[in-house]
Amino acid sequence: MQMGHTLNGFTQEGGYLHPVEPWRLTEHAFDPGSSVLNETLFALGNGYVGLRGTHEEGFTGHGYRSLDGTYLNGFYESDDIQYPEPAYGFARHQQFMLNVPNAKVVRLYLDGDPFSLLLGVIEQYERWVDFREGVLHRFIIWRSPGGKRLQITSRRLVSFTHKHLFALDYEVKLLDGPAGIRLASVLNGMVSNLETGDDPRVGTAVSGPRLQLAAAQITGKVMTQTHRTQHSGFMLVSAVHTECAFDGAGTLDSEEERIRQRLEQRFSAQMQAGETMRLTKFSAYCTSRDFPEDRVLAEARAALDEGHSTGFSALCSEQREYLAAFWRQADVEIAGDDAVQQGIRFNQFHLLQSVGRDGKTNIAAKGLTGEGYAGHYFWDSETYVFPFFLFTKPDVARSMLQFRYEGLGQARDRACEVARSCRPVTGEDPDPAIGALYPWRTIGGEECSAYFPAGTAQYHINADIAYSIKMYEEATGDTAFIMSQGAEIVIQTARIWMDIGCYVAKRGGCFCIHEVTGPDEYSALVNNNYYTNAMAKLHLLYASELAARLREREPDAFRTLAERIHLRSDEPAEWLRAAELMYLPRDEELQIHPQDDSFLYKERWNFDGAAEDVGPLLLHYHPLVIYRYQVCKQADVILALLLLGQWFDLEDKRRDFDYYEAVTTHDSSLSACIFGIVAAEIGYRDKAYDYFMATARLDLDDTHGNTETGVHTAAMAGTWMGVVYGFAGMRLQDGTLRFAPYLPETWTHYQFNVRFHGELLRVHVDRGQTVYTLLEGDALSFLHWDRAIRLRGRGTAEAVVETPSRHGDSSGPSGQEAGGAQSSETGD
Ligand code: BGC
Repeated sequence: MQMGHTLNGFTQEGGYLHPVEPWRLTEHAFDPGSSVLNETLFALGNGYVGLRGTHEEGFTGHGYRSLDGTYLNGFYESDDIQYPEPAYGFARHQQFMLNVPNAKVVRLYLDGDPFSLLLGVIEQYERWVDFREGVLHRFIIWRSPGGKRLQITSRRLVSFTHKHLFALDYEVKLLDGPAGIRLASVLNGMVSNLETGDDPRVGTAVSGPRLQLAAAQITGKVMTQTHRTQHSGFMLVSAVHTECAFDGAGTLDSEEERIRQRLEQRFSAQMQAGETMRLTKFSAYCTSRDFPEDRVLAEARAALDEGHSTGFSALCSEQREYLAAFWRQADVEIAGDDAVQQGIRFNQFHLLQSVGRDGKTNIAAKGLTGEGYAGHYFWDSETYVFPFFLFTKPDVARSMLQFRYEGLGQARDRACEVARSCRPVTGEDPDPAIGALYPWRTIGGEECSAYFPAGTAQYHINADIAYSIKMYEEATGDTAFIMSQGAEIVIQTARIWMDIGCYVAKRGGCFCIHEVTGPDEYSALVNNNYYTNAMAKLHLLYASELAARLREREPDAFRTLAERIHLRSDEPAEWLRAAELMYLPRDEELQIHPQDDSFLYKERWNFDGAAEDVGPLLLHYHPLVIYRYQVCKQADVILALLLLGQWFDLEDKRRDFDYYEAVTTHDSSLSACIFGIVAAEIGYRDKAYDYFMATARLDLDDTHGNTETGVHTAAMAGTWMGVVYGFAGMRLQDGTLRFAPYLPETWTHYQFNVRFHGELLRVHVDRGQTVYTLLEGDALSFLHWDRAIRLRGRGTAEAVVETPSRHGDSSGPSGQEAGGAQSSETGD
């Protein structure tokens, strides 16, 4: 389906919901109607704690909705999945990211009237977050129903430098006095999760509060609550330290109250006009996922102490410094389109806020901004988000992989449960060489997909993870990781292909993989899904090559690994054989790669109908109806063209693109960015731009209509890929970095940095030329189109080469670049 007429929700013409600003997101007026959406957009996080962008005072009533939420990455409750018709091997437990006690609540009263954004008159309002600052600001002038005005200034941050901490500063200035002012610092443990409605992408199948209160106390300035989860067996301490400062002449009274799960510390004074009262709250969350139970409370108190002894201003400075370092590495600058610029920085900021970096957590499909997809991690992590961190903050990329390593035991158990070589009937021990199967969706490592056709059947997740490890090795040279963790994951996950695949005589003895689901979830349980087979091939090749390399170079370590995982000496050769004989179908008549064995035999979806204009097909048709047609939710073969680009020529790519574009709805937010990148490569520059634009502001403009339950982290990372892989044509193939840049028509330049083997390269592309500068490191080699370039000399080494104006035109050097036409070397 062509871009522009039927893609979901791209209805907004020009008018943006927020002012277009390159570094900020601002709201100039309070609009209760778009509040739920803004709660997602203004969410803050540090990869561990996530706060939705709700107002401290909250609001309810008048028919307006608010979805408050505070989330901790990796902190979840689990429940049995109830199947009226169960079957062997179905996922047994559902896990969902818990909404934890709300520590950001502040209540404000003027002469006894509660402040509410829905009462009285809001005379001035502004709320903003600057992506270089990481602090959410709000400024309000409010006239109470009694006619007195207050100025309310609040700031809050979730600290990037203190994992367990967030802080908020809330100042009230009385403009028309005198008046009685009361401020309350609240810790509210009466919280629950969003319940599932008709949309399978939203919420959890549980209702009511899920945390059980074990203890609550107020001691001095500190309020604490200890909770336990019912089934997952975790303990949580939520703690708040409150300071109140009053600059008036009157006296400041304080009192405390506990109403069931709600703890309050109240401060009140008779104030004169011009006087101010300020609350500063430091809040910490610690759980038994991070600490032994007997230390959780002490750790939470220690985090609080660290917070208030640092102080709010110093926390702000730390935040700024952390972000300055992030942007120095990760910023993508786009000149000529501020709306895109805002979109991409907003996306990068949210990725940083969402990604777990402790090796025990990962990045949820909706980050820490909402409860969509129950807070689960998917293949989105490796295939979409991972490249962004790999080339900007490789330490984060490594901890994402470490998360998978931590889950290898459960992946092995899962393989034992679902693999052919498991022995449920005879009761024998499973084959020790059974391998590992990663869960399609999870938080704690266990498969949580209750719908196996679009869950467990997506075996490709094994290859996606192995592919990331290969990229990680090639981009960092971190052999220590490969030795200690990477190789084991690659080998264990590769074994699954031998279990589920087989050589088929009627296919000329080719290795075939049956009953799987590829990335496109509008086809399920198919034979020989092209993407899966192709990725499995790469996976098996990498596993056998890695095994041979390790055996030769690290014989002792390899022997230990082989013994631990019962690796037989003939296995690598079997993997190689399967890879070489992998069935990769091609339709000779259409000269394309069929998505699977049956895809081309199905009737095409009739796109002239009206249904697709009202939203994704999955909300309007039974899955079986959708499965019977040639219709794709997202990139599938097209993704293989990107990830395994060296296996196809440009003509192949064009034919596949043309074919699949016509049958793809892009109902998944993971789709458009991939089509855009491939479009850029094959010279469809207008389409490349349109697809890129469909992703760049997907959440800011809520083009998929569901951002209120969380941002789309895969699509956000897809924007970064859209610039770097798409317009700049960057690829990493067999260890070689290559660029093939061009400049979109409406831009005047763009620029980004890439970290490769520890060196930092800046790539600046304008209309006539591309400038490569080595910002850190001593030497770096790469290709510009087909020209070899080598930069030597930190900070000064620069290569200036021509940016081709037409597709495929990669003519010679210009400017100050030295060296011959095929190989250039510059430096000091
Ligand atoms: C997509 C999957 C994706 C999931 C979470 C689904 O709509 O089809 O590919 O992993 O969303 O983002």
